[in-house]
Amino acid sequence: MTDRYASFVQSAAGRTLVKRLGLPDPPRLRRHSPGDPLLPGPALLGTATGGLLAEPVARILTAAGVELADPAADTAPGDNPRRYGALLFDATGIIDSTELRQLYDFFHPQARAMLPGGRVIVLGTPPQECPMPREATAQRALEGLVRSIGKEFGRGTTAQLVYVTRAENGVLTSLESTLRFLLSGRSAYVSGQVIRVGAGEATAPADWDRPLDGQVVLVTGAARGIGAALARVLARDGAQVVALDIPAAGDALAAVANDIGGTAVQLDLTAPDAPTRLADHLAGRHGRVDVVVHNAGITRDKTLGRMDADQWDQVIDVNLSSQERINDMLLGRGLIPTGGRIVSVSSIAGIAGNRGQTNYATSKAGVIGLVDSLAPALRGRGISVNAVAPGFIETRLTARIPLVVREAGRRMNSLAQGGLPVDVAETIGWLAWPASGAVSGNVVRVCGQSLLGA
Ligand code: NAD
Repeated sequence: MTDRYASFVQSAAGRTLVKRLGLPDPPRLRRHSPGDPLLPGPALLGTATGGLLAEPVARILTAAGVELADPAADTAPGDNPRRYGALLFDATGIIDSTELRQLYDFFHPQARAMLPGGRVIVLGTPPQECPMPREATAQRALEGLVRSIGKEFGRGTTAQLVYVTRAENGVLTSLESTLRFLLSGRSAYVSGQVIRVGAGEATAPADWDRPLDGQVVLVTGAARGIGAALARVLARDGAQVVALDIPAAGDALAAVANDIGGTAVQLDLTAPDAPTRLADHLAGRHGRVDVVVHNAGITRDKTLGRMDADQWDQVIDVNLSSQERINDMLLGRGLIPTGGRIVSVSSIAGIAGNRGQTNYATSKAGVIGLVDSLAPALRGRGISVNAVAPGFIETRLTARIPLVVREAGRRMNSLAQGGLPVDVAETIGWLAWPASGAVSGNVVRVCGQSLLGA
């Protein structure tokens, strides 16, 4: 599926029309290719008085090949003000609302200094970990700043808030994978998000271009759409992919699996013996599964009054209950080892609700509940559980939406365009990396900061 309007606005005639008529202006997003530098230009790193993270973050960035600009040299913009690939601010030192002024002082002079596809990252302390109410209040305030910057800066700039736990152990390595993901083109369609990084185990890969080297990864619903993109991205990043889909999609599934040197499993996830057959296959072929990605999903849209019970049951079963049954079986048989990852695909409909989708939104909100309940339960076993919630992604599923509703869904976000399957795949990839062990219990929207459920 292509967004013809987004291509048109990149042409000379398109640029003129967009300016004259004040039409939506979707920027070309900076997406990742192996070997790319993390940023299109230097990063400016600022810190509030008493911040704890600026120094370790500077070390991470330098080791990643990012050029750090000298803040002193950049406070007085001359005729040729410097342009940045990223602005990062360590706000962990802010303990009172009166100190929020430091954010203004850092960001105000740079509001027009971003290169296209720039990145803004604010680092804070989780409010629930702050000992004093005033500190918790000030830390919570950071969300409003970040979400507004995501809406203001434009030209494909994204903005995120990363809350980093105070527990010291392993924080540095655990933060690295998240910084690398957010700064890179992998996070092109992720904006306005609040991400929590804990103190879990994290192992840096030998090569950050192959962060999944040697990992056995199961992807459900891999024959097409987001699942096919997932299989390709995870294989590109070094994973051995087990691609699963229904028997009726066997040919498309085989094509994906052959393409990436993975294996194909034809299985209807709702079949009563599906969990056992899947566990037997993984045990026999690989002896384990390091990463489970629950991507398969269906819609059966009708308003509640017109929906029949089958439409309700099918959607809850495929999108939610089958995930629970498979988790229980794989965990119960010890097939997901320490350091394992479970990543589920939710939806912004599970956050905002959607007319005509009571069944779907219920199932996708349930997926968020699964993350909330399973992540703390599995922390002790070193297994992380996260979800992504895609917004409008250009697939066959969204191609079926009537034109006017489709155009509204596409444009009603800070980036004025739909995302691509690869954007969801890259985000799931980051959550699946061995280096992301400290990221658990998160629901990360891949929605270009959609207005729905915001
Ligand atoms: P899609 O329909 O293109 O692909 C879904 C795949 O899941 C298909 O290949 C299908 O055969 C498979 N599948 C369905 N039922 C199955 C079963 N019982 N057993 C095994 N496989 C089964 O959809 P997509 O757009 O790629 O969506 C992928 C996921 O992303 C879904 O969970 C969907 O709800 C979610 N999502 C998509 C969007 C979007 O804009 N496309 C937005 C939010 C969430």
